[in-house]
Amino acid sequence: MLARLSSWSRTLSVSTRTALSLAAGFTLVIAATALIAFEQEHAIAIDESLARLDQRNAKVVEELADQFDRIAKTQTQAIALFRTERAALSTAQARREFDLLYPRYRDGTRRSTDAMFEGGPSAIGMTQGMAGFIPAAIERDDEAVRDLVAATHAVRRLGEGSRFELESLYYFTPRNGIVIFAPDRADRLEYYRKTAPANFDFQDREFATISTLPANPARKMMCTGLQSLISLADQEVWTTGCMTPVDRDGMHAGTFGTSIPLDQIAPAGRFAGPVDENVILISREGRLIYHPSYTLQHSQETAGYLDITTSDTPELAALWKLVSKHGKTGYTGEATALEAFVSLRPIPGAGWYALTVKPQQLILEEALRPIPRIAAMAVIALSICLLIVTLVLRQLVAKPLRRLSRDANRITRGLAAESMLELPQGPRRGNEVSELVGRFETMACAIRQSHSQLEERVAERTRALNDANEKLRLLSELDGLTGVANRRKILAELEGRIERMSPASALAVLILDIDSFKSINDRYGHVAGDDALRALAIRVQALLRPGDALGRMGGEEFMIVLDRARPAVADAIAERVRAAIAQQPFHVHGNLALDITASLGVAGWRPGDTAKALYARADQALYQAKAAGRNCAISSYDHSAGKRSAA
Ligand code: GH3
Ligand code: MG
Ligand code: MG
Repeated sequence: MLARLSSWSRTLSVSTRTALSLAAGFTLVIAATALIAFEQEHAIAIDESLARLDQRNAKVVEELADQFDRIAKTQTQAIALFRTERAALSTAQARREFDLLYPRYRDGTRRSTDAMFEGGPSAIGMTQGMAGFIPAAIERDDEAVRDLVAATHAVRRLGEGSRFELESLYYFTPRNGIVIFAPDRADRLEYYRKTAPANFDFQDREFATISTLPANPARKMMCTGLQSLISLADQEVWTTGCMTPVDRDGMHAGTFGTSIPLDQIAPAGRFAGPVDENVILISREGRLIYHPSYTLQHSQETAGYLDITTSDTPELAALWKLVSKHGKTGYTGEATALEAFVSLRPIPGAGWYALTVKPQQLILEEALRPIPRIAAMAVIALSICLLIVTLVLRQLVAKPLRRLSRDANRITRGLAAESMLELPQGPRRGNEVSELVGRFETMACAIRQSHSQLEERVAERTRALNDANEKLRLLSELDGLTGVANRRKILAELEGRIERMSPASALAVLILDIDSFKSINDRYGHVAGDDALRALAIRVQALLRPGDALGRMGGEEFMIVLDRARPAVADAIAERVRAAIAQQPFHVHGNLALDITASLGVAGWRPGDTAKALYARADQALYQAKAAGRNCAISSYDHSAGKRSAA
């Protein structure tokens, strides 16, 4: 498989292959970049999410703090009004109003008139939405009566003043007396007005306990956890309440309170942010105030989740752990146990904590969100880059390579056509480079073959030229008619030998001239004369020793160089030559037998002799031979000056 792939890849064009290699490399780079980008995006997404989360939580805290602030202010004003009213009330006035406002009920308690709730004139003016329940024991205490009447004034005034902001405003005493303004309660406050038992005692309820001196030494407003409203016990109206105690003479006289039903703490849409973020409210004591999954209005199950300090629910237990650890200082960061990121802030004025929570998974998804965009951009960039690389490579590399390849092929074909060459198989199919390599190898083979053919031809021509030169040289040295050395050659031979002479060695020169040759020509013709010259040369040559040399000096005159010939030998040879010529006729053209004689001059070499001098002496001797009557040999040696031989 791998082998097939690699052989397939070899057939690809260089530009495609480079582009593919780059693509592989770039893909790795892009993958690494995407990974780094993801890591960075993840870190940024976490930071941004945390910042958003905390911002959102801060807004929740701000809104709730505002709400608590308004409640606290209303209650402070109520207390101020209460004190003013109380100071202005005489006991008698208080008693009179008390009787009118709270007539004795059939069970001995005092309850508010129907008109106070339904609306209409009362002892303190027009009232509406109010109810009161006062146990029998209180009416005996003048101060308590004054308190309750003054409180009724304050509750009515401020309750009506903040009717659209607060669900209720009430005042209750440690002895279970209560005056309440809550015009919108579904039960029309029937409970306080009618159905509450005579011994109705709520001192053990949290809204009462948090107002005692030991529980609230600062005497500031404090809020409860979720409670089911006493008056609507059968409906499970989950409510929290904020209470400000009122002291008189250092004693806890009563408490102003406001209920905030769960639907008002978190009315639909109040904490609406991104669907994946949840707002959770928890009280200082570890009571769930609001949780979108666990605090459900009108649900009995809610009760089971409220105390998170001992909760079996892992999420709630984890929340409590977080709140008890970081509640005071606040916290923004990861909450591993919740698998979420969280912002935790205390809510000023309430003793509550607000948490905004976002699952980790969602932040991870946010971090991943830009990845497809980054990848798509990278792929587009990569494609453009590869396209450019491919085009540039094709232009700069592939095309020139193919051109080179074609040129190589053309040269190879030209060589093959010129001289029949045996070439290897054509180039393998492949990319430009392997094709070029193949074509170059073939071309190299063709060039080598053609080169060796050329060398062979040159060698052949050189040999022929050398042969021709040799022939030319011989021709230039030989006499054209007789075939013996010509004048230049025989003289050069003589000069050469003289140069190599030592004083002890010997050399002699004979000059031979045919006698009366003119008359032979005249009588028998030049052709016969030529034949005679040739035949004479052959006959003389046959007489000479291997080291001797014969040459034609011109016309019918020859020179014979006798190697190592001392005078006696030279003379003897001269005589032998003369005799050989004279004794036998020469057969020539026209079937003629010519009797020919020749005269010879002999000269021996003397140290210091040049060729010219030696020749001159021999010629001199020849002259003497002619003068002596021809057909004789005259030697120029001293010992035989004038010696002649004759037939
Ligand atoms: P002498 O005995 O004094 O040497 O008399 P001779 O006739 O031989 O001398 P001469 O110098 O008067 O004449 C030489 C003749 O040789 C003349 C010429 O016709 C002849 N001859 C020279 N060269 C050639 C040749 O190549 N072929 C032929 N056939 N004759 C030649
Ligand atoms: Mg002559
Ligand atoms: Mg002659």
